[in-house]
Amino acid sequence: MHKKLFIPGPIEVKKEILDEMSRPMIGHRSRDFMDMFSSTKEKLKRLFNTDNVVFISTSSGTGLWEAAARNCIEKRCLCLVNGAFSDRWHKVVLACGKEADKYEVELGQANKPDELEKRLMTGKYDAVTVVHNETSTGVMNPLDDIAEVMRKYPEVSFLVDAVSSLAGMKIEVDKLGIDVCLASSQKALGLPPGISVCSVSKKAFEKSRNIKGKGYYFDFEVLLKYYEKDQTPITPSISHIFALHKQLEHMEIEGYENRFRRHLDMATIVRTWAIENNFSLFAEKGYESNTVTCINNSRNIDVSGLCQKLEAKGYVISNGYGSLKGKTFRIAHMADIQKEELKELLSIMKEIIENENPDN
Ligand code: PLP
Repeated sequence: MHKKLFIPGPIEVKKEILDEMSRPMIGHRSRDFMDMFSSTKEKLKRLFNTDNVVFISTSSGTGLWEAAARNCIEKRCLCLVNGAFSDRWHKVVLACGKEADKYEVELGQANKPDELEKRLMTGKYDAVTVVHNETSTGVMNPLDDIAEVMRKYPEVSFLVDAVSSLAGMKIEVDKLGIDVCLASSQKALGLPPGISVCSVSKKAFEKSRNIKGKGYYFDFEVLLKYYEKDQTPITPSISHIFALHKQLEHMEIEGYENRFRRHLDMATIVRTWAIENNFSLFAEKGYESNTVTCINNSRNIDVSGLCQKLEAKGYVISNGYGSLKGKTFRIAHMADIQKEELKELLSIMKEIIENENPDN
């Protein structure tokens, strides 16, 4: 039995996109590859709303965390932390041999622009990392307000993880002045895991040029040299690029505005379901994610039991992440899942919960 995924990555992938992954190979130095790469680049720029360079990395998103750290931190980085993934990016920055501090808030809260500004005023930092959508808590950081602060510090690199928001929400890289914006394939992009994408600004390339010890795989200068020839320095996952190209075509046919509205509608459906069923939302009010909802276990149900019963019926949701296990559960509503499929999941969840917990 196929179990339908409502977890925040990997997600359900459409059959037509999976089929692209099984196309016969082409050489990565061939004209066919270069044509596909060039067309994919143009489509990706439209997705990121940018004229910047857009790389496709044969690594998951974590690889691009390293890329951002290795190429864009010279002095000291300020990492905005509000959950497990933003915390891990801080660890990755340190593991790349860079100096870094955290501006950390409680789980469920968003990082606030005024607190960021206080720290930037010290002049200690030349880079900031922000996770737009903290997948572990379902909190969406206020990217527009954060960008407004960043605009006052043009010498500080603005590094954004849009791993679980890109293609589910509008991200305007050029308007926001983001230096590196990165995302993984297995989230709202609607692809199997295995590649990631990022945009890189001119400022980021200039900075990277003066930085030593970047390694090879993620060195922006090396990647750019090949990018200009519509190639990659290494043998890329060609199957993923076939799928990405097709998926970008599909998303343009759906229309990005329609796609973003569908994500918002799905988020509203899940939030309303939670409240109507006497649960509450984990995210601070006003900062709820449009792609994944983290629900407080206000009724003290057996979350693991609920997940198991759902799986037996062919649906997969996520327990709370790390310390939030049992205290929360998460429902992802991203990529190509439709509202009707989500409503079906929610009605089955309601039935299970009411059968198991008739009194609460
Ligand atoms: N950033 C966020 C917000 C994530 O949710 C994840 C994974 O779930 C990552 C980064 C890590 O991405 P990957 O697993 O593609 O390396």
